[in-house]
Amino acid sequence: MHEIVASAKQLAQSVRELTRKHNSWFKESIPLIASENVMSPVAREVLNSDLNNRYAEGLPFKRYYQGNIYVDEIETICENLAKEVFSCKFADVRSISGTVSNMAVLMALTKPRDKMTTVALSDGGHISHAKIGATGVRGVRTFNYPFDEKNMNIDVEGAKRLIREVKPKVALFGQSVFLFPTPLKELNGVFEEVGCTTWYDAAHVLGLVAGKRFQDPLKEGVDVVSGSTHKTLPGPQHGMIISDLSKDGLETSLRRGVFPGVTSNHHLHSVAALAVTLAETKEFGEAYADQTIKDAKALGGALHERGFNVLCEHLGFTASHTIVVDVEEYGGGAKVAKALEKANIILNKNLLPWDSDPVRPSGIRIGAQELARLGMKENHMADVSELIARVVVKGEPPEKVREDVIEFKRQFTKVHYCFYEGEEAYDYPAYDGDIV
Ligand SMILES: *Cc1c(COP(=O)(O)O)cnc(C)c1O
Repeated sequence: MHEIVASAKQLAQSVRELTRKHNSWFKESIPLIASENVMSPVAREVLNSDLNNRYAEGLPFKRYYQGNIYVDEIETICENLAKEVFSCKFADVRSISGTVSNMAVLMALTKPRDKMTTVALSDGGHISHAKIGATGVRGVRTFNYPFDEKNMNIDVEGAKRLIREVKPKVALFGQSVFLFPTPLKELNGVFEEVGCTTWYDAAHVLGLVAGKRFQDPLKEGVDVVSGSTHKTLPGPQHGMIISDLSKDGLETSLRRGVFPGVTSNHHLHSVAALAVTLAETKEFGEAYADQTIKDAKALGGALHERGFNVLCEHLGFTASHTIVVDVEEYGGGAKVAKALEKANIILNKNLLPWDSDPVRPSGIRIGAQELARLGMKENHMADVSELIARVVVKGEPPEKVREDVIEFKRQFTKVHYCFYEGEEAYDYPAYDGDIV
């Protein structure tokens, strides 16, 4: 590679152009990554504001900085909306991502060397639940629940046995491949028996819980819930923690876990965008969650009809926004995901519970939450699955299928289930011309 000498101005201009290319590419693509979404116009407006330039530490009206007069009001609205939308007693909206929420909860609930039961990475657990991630940073020891591969869920009897045997300080639930509700009610007696705290990572399903279309972990007795605010909850990249304060001291330890534990400034523009998203969830969240799950089930059915091995057919494929497809017969997850990317169909390879080689996943994970957000209904899932099948099953050149993806996507570039419904999802403010 020969060295290219570019001026600072040229480099800034390149970044600008690459960003615009990215925007256009996504406008012309079918977005199927299960952890992503698009924000509403009002959320984008407040995200791209002076709030991004400011600092606040601590809690509203008890700050370490001046300049927070309006920030205090925004954060108070955000917290109150979170408590209302999730019908709970406590909400902290300051953790800046799902992983940072988890680090705060780890700090609040555990000490180094404590034991925690978790879902294994290969069964859909998240990296922050594992030794190689945030849990390892805290020095917490993990023990994985036995998993029922057929039903893609925790094995109830096995989990009971594990919890009785390990006697963990904390039992953690929740997955990144999250097809069905966790059998919390079935496990409830065991937690009391061993006296552990229960924690549910709702990163993926937070919007479905808010929309009352997935299990409500707090109502099912969980002590603490953490989550990301940009997956099925279609907000800014941020995090939150909610609780009914079922145990003494939880409020103080969770607050301290977030600050001074794992954050200082908490991204005030994101708090404002989250507040707007929660207000929109209060208004449109049930309809949105409903359509998301209908689309996911319909997509599972449509792919199955086209010969794909969609997991859990006997359970209707999914009860969430996500479906999982075993694509080993088409060369595995990596090959399939790369071919589809060339056709502007964006999804990711995924390990399946029976995969023996962790770097060669045999599955793909597909989320329907962004399709629903862009206005797609069940009947559009036949079109989406046909475009996927043309690349993967029929072996058509992806570049050719891409033309039809672009044509199809023209109908779906607007945001729904929000205020100013029908505004463009991919248009951002820009100055004309090159940098001068
Ligand atoms: C996505 C995810 C996270 C991490 O969220 P970030 O906001 O990306 O840090 C944590 N837990 C689970 C289960 C997730 O799926």
